[in-house]
This record gives sequence, structure tokens and C-alpha cells, in this order.
Amino acid sequence: MEKPEKPIKKDENFSEWYVQAVMHSGLFDYGEVSGTLIFRPDGYYLWESIQKAVDPLFKEAGIQNVCFPLFIPKHFLEKEKEHIEGFSAEVAWVTRGGQSELEEELAVRPTSETIMYPAYSKWIRSWRDLPMRYNQWNNVVRWEFRHPTPLLRSREFLWNEGHTVFATKEEADAERDQVLGIYKNVLKEYLALEGIVGQKTDSEKFAGAEKTFSIEFIMPDGRISQGPDFHVDGQKFSKAFDITFLDKEGKRQYAYQNTFAISTRMIGIMLGMHGDDKGIIIPPRLARIQVVAVPIYSEENKAEILKYANEVREKISNDFRVFVDESDAYSPGWKFNEWERAGVPVRIEIGKKEMSSKSVTVFRRDTFAKENVETANLSIYLSKLLQEIHENLYQKSKSLIKTKIMAVGNYEKLKEAVKAGYAVKVLWCGDKECEAKIKEDTAARSSNIPFGEQENINGACVYCGKPAKYRINFGRSY
Ligand SMILES: [Zn+2]
Repeated sequence: MEKPEKPIKKDENFSEWYVQAVMHSGLFDYGEVSGTLIFRPDGYYLWESIQKAVDPLFKEAGIQNVCFPLFIPKHFLEKEKEHIEGFSAEVAWVTRGGQSELEEELAVRPTSETIMYPAYSKWIRSWRDLPMRYNQWNNVVRWEFRHPTPLLRSREFLWNEGHTVFATKEEADAERDQVLGIYKNVLKEYLALEGIVGQKTDSEKFAGAEKTFSIEFIMPDGRISQGPDFHVDGQKFSKAFDITFLDKEGKRQYAYQNTFAISTRMIGIMLGMHGDDKGIIIPPRLARIQVVAVPIYSEENKAEILKYANEVREKISNDFRVFVDESDAYSPGWKFNEWERAGVPVRIEIGKKEMSSKSVTVFRRDTFAKENVETANLSIYLSKLLQEIHENLYQKSKSLIKTKIMAVGNYEKLKEAVKAGYAVKVLWCGDKECEAKIKEDTAARSSNIPFGEQENINGACVYCGKPAKYRINFGRSY
């Protein structure tokens, strides 16, 4: 057996802890190309479950799924100026097919605006064709050269990309709260997370968008990480791709567009927030195995104990996703450890004592608390417990984010706080020069301008001292 690596404490070195916890969970493996990741069954289950939660809400809202090709001819990718400027440094290109050089290079999609919108331009003719609200679930490639971190920063990731078209600005704007509401709801109900919703600055918005809104997270080491986002494109792409329609008066108009996404980075944020020194913790509603039963037996009572363990499984398997670990190769203690590292929210231990009292010992992964529970009451007990674990993870991560943002009133304090591993909440004049200077001095970039925190702003910009317009969070990022 491999010698276990020295465990790293989450509080002492988050970034090393994170890589170890995620990569030792058994959910993922490294791909052969640097910055790529393999999702094994329990890892892919997380993404499938997020998809299964988001997708029906999209459909209920009137958003339909489509599937566009992976390759984008170069001249399409270059049609919107800001868009290509934002992406050119990280596009992977196909230049050859078999033995022959291609006449035109093909981009492997970094995002699909420029392959979808030529088709939109053909399909949209009149106001009757609008709104057109399409989405696709796919993978994209961004050839980043920064140090990759599994899930948080990778060269290929999975996501949804919503691309919607409206006749009026008002209709387009109304979509924002609907879509961010869907993401917020899924984050809370499935990932047990609540992020900070707000608007990105012009420097940090999506390449080609007029405005970007995001749900942001502060990781346990004070670094910021961006979750789902929503981009208001206005008429920028419709002008570049000639997406026009005849309005009710027969006049030709440019359409208004939005795009939005949630990606597999969200899984990284979730595992980083909830895990502990033992490894990752999976919120119960996303766990492929919610309850793992570990039988504890000797040669003499093995048959009886396994029989009892499977009776217990049958009793609860209609209500929960249960697995009985019957493997002979390892001791119960070793199995306990492995399932803890895999983040399974609940373990039940079943030995001689439990069998004779018709009970099981229930262990919860988030608090390590153990309790003996009668098998007759087990289903009711477990449904309450899984709910409690979800709630506990949600509340803990919510307060963790709060403790990692420090409100600071002057530039020296800002620098100290960022150095000490905090994100900072500051007053800002709105000038992109000040934002750039802060980034240059501290490597902290702006996270977003949180909704609901913009009232009663009177004070000076943390950098230049001019009257402030916004309350904004800054932090080093993943
Ligand atoms: Zn300023």
C-alpha cells in the first residue's frame, strides 16, 4: 500500500490542502495534458446533479437546449473586436486536418457566441421570432498559462452557456434576475452555498459584454473565485453579426442579447468551502452515495453481520442512496478513513453490538458526531440528519465568507489585509485607474460591486481619496 502523504491542514495552507483534498478524494484524476481533469463516476455525478437541478428551471423559464459545433472558423471568432481581444491569448487552434494544412484555422471554442450568432442572424427575421432563448451544455477550452488548479482554473471545463435574444432592452434586462435567481437557488439547495451577487467592474466584465453580473465567493484563504455569471451584451454582438428583425411597424432593428453560465469551477468552490482536514465533504443532495454502511465482522460472524447490514440497506434504500462496503481487502478503520476522504456525508457502522440491539451507529462526516440509532427509526433519523448536514454546511460556509472579508478604510490597511490572506471591502471612486493601481500593487483584483451594499456611501476612494461611488470587494484570485 502507498505510504500516505503527510496530511496538510486546511487553515495552514489552503491551496496545498485543496489540491490534496480534491485529488485524494477518488472523484477526479489528472488528464494527460496539463490543466485538464478527468471526472470519475462520483465526480461526474456532482456535475450531472447540478445540470439536473438547473436544466428543468431553465426549461420552465422558456430556455431550450441546442448543440452547436466545437470548431469556430477564424474570421467568425474575430468579428467582435473586444471579444477577440479578450480571448486571443487563450484560444487553442486547429491548423491541420490529417496531413493537410487547413485553408482557414479553426478555433476550439473558448465560448460559443461567434459560432452561434451567424446562425441566429439567419434564423431571426421578425419580431415573431423573438425572444429566442437557447442554451447549451458543453465543454470549452481556454489555453491559460497561469498555474492550473483542479476545477478552479483549468484549460478545459464543462458549463452551460445561455445565449438569448430579445426585441427590447426591457425584456432583455428582465432576464437577469430570473437567471441569477435560478443559479442562486441551485447553489443554496444543492451546493449548500451562498455567494455575493453584484456587478463586475468594466475592467473585469466579460470580453464583448456591456455589463457583467456575477455570484462571487471568498475562499478560505481569502482569495476570490467567480461563480455563475450573467452578461448583458446589449446590441454589441447583434451589430457585429447582423442579428436584426422587423418590428411590428415593419422597421428593421438590432436585437438585444444576454449570455450566462455556471461551470465546473463551482464544484471546486464547493469542495474548497466545505472540506476539512480529513478531506472533502459532499453536501447530501449532490452525493452519489449519501450513506455508506461499513460492516464490522470477524471470521465467525461475517455471514450474519453481512446479512444484517443488507437488511438495513434494504430498509432505507428507497429513501437514500446507500452503499454497503463489503470488500474484504481492508479493515473497517481503513474503510472509515477512505469514505471520509471521499466526502460521503453519512456512515453507518454495523457490528456485533449493533446487530444484537437491532441498531446501527451513525457517523456524520461534517461534525464527526456518532449516535446509536434503532434500525426501526433509521429512515426518519437519516432524513432529518441529511437535512441538518446540508444546513450546517450552508451556514458554516456563509459565515466563513463573512470572516474572510475585511472592511478597510485606507490603502495601507488594504495592502496589509490582502497580504494577511483576506479579501477586502473598500470604497471606490469608480475610476479604472485606481482599480488598476490596486491590482498592480497587491495582485488583488475587483470581485464585484455587491447588490444591497450601495446605500449611504459617503467617504473617500481607498486609493485616490476622491469621493467614493461604490462599495466593492477586492481580493487575489484563483
Ligand atoms: Zn479612486
